[in-house]
Amino acid sequence: MGIKGVDLLVSFTCNSHCMHCSYNCGIRRKGIMDASDGRCYIHALCKQHDIEWLSVIGGEPLMVPDLTNELIRCAKENGIPHRGVITNGFWGREAKGAQKILKDLKDVGMNQITFSVDAFHQEHIPFSHVRNAIMASTDIGFDKVWVDGYYLKYEDSSNRFDKQTKALLNELRGTEGIDINTYRLRMCGRAVGLQDHFDDKSVPHGICTPPFWMGGGFDNPSTIEIDHRGNVTLCPGISIGNAKEDEITAIVQTYDVCEHPILSIINEEGPIGLAKLADNFDLSRGFVDHCHLCYELRKHLRPLYPRYLTPADVYQ
Ligand code: SF4
Repeated sequence: MGIKGVDLLVSFTCNSHCMHCSYNCGIRRKGIMDASDGRCYIHALCKQHDIEWLSVIGGEPLMVPDLTNELIRCAKENGIPHRGVITNGFWGREAKGAQKILKDLKDVGMNQITFSVDAFHQEHIPFSHVRNAIMASTDIGFDKVWVDGYYLKYEDSSNRFDKQTKALLNELRGTEGIDINTYRLRMCGRAVGLQDHFDDKSVPHGICTPPFWMGGGFDNPSTIEIDHRGNVTLCPGISIGNAKEDEITAIVQTYDVCEHPILSIINEEGPIGLAKLADNFDLSRGFVDHCHLCYELRKHLRPLYPRYLTPADVYQ
């Protein structure tokens, strides 16, 4: 398996508790990646693979700027060409403070940054803060400044979340130096609490489309995520190994979708295939999409497959 990217999912207390978060991140999550673990993962992977990018995500990576700086620095030292963070921009309240944070990141080698802007993040983070942070980022000379926004359904939907997200993103459109990407949220983790906004539920059949960040199918993923407990995941809550128990390179090299008791089924039959493992699972209630069905089935199956359906926080 060749991987092009590593997402280091740095799990820890976040300053927000976004209702769409498929990782269930937020103020109740504890723990933080040990810097030496992060350095080891990067170093080991880079020795054996051409890693093209490293992205530090969260929680919110800039709540621990020293750790984030350390991981970015390590990525640069190990020759990873694209190095960035995904942030909610909470740190943009004051322009001077934002500039200092960005300068430190640039000095250690960060060359791209992604901001989250949508109704879900702006429930917790004032838009003025993230806008200041975006503006400061365009001034500092990164290779890329992205803005990612999530819609509950789609841009022109009339629900209050999508109307707000569209309005927020429209305020940023035309800003020189930024690219805006939009996605439909995945109905996993805390996002399942939003299911009542959907009338048209069903039982989705067929295979799913893996998350865009995975960069391939489940049989040939090009990106992995590693959290502070060592969990190596593809989709949130679906683990392919633990880097605190096994060498990260061995996990990557020995991964075979056919050997994974959950992903082998999803890959061949779609999430509906998991239903055959799940006694007493009620399919008749209907589901918003493939991911919703997948998440509910995995939550039901988790006691039987705790090693593969982890971290537990995703399912709580
Ligand atoms: S259906 Fe499941 S495995 Fe497929 S993309 Fe959604 S969460 Fe991931």
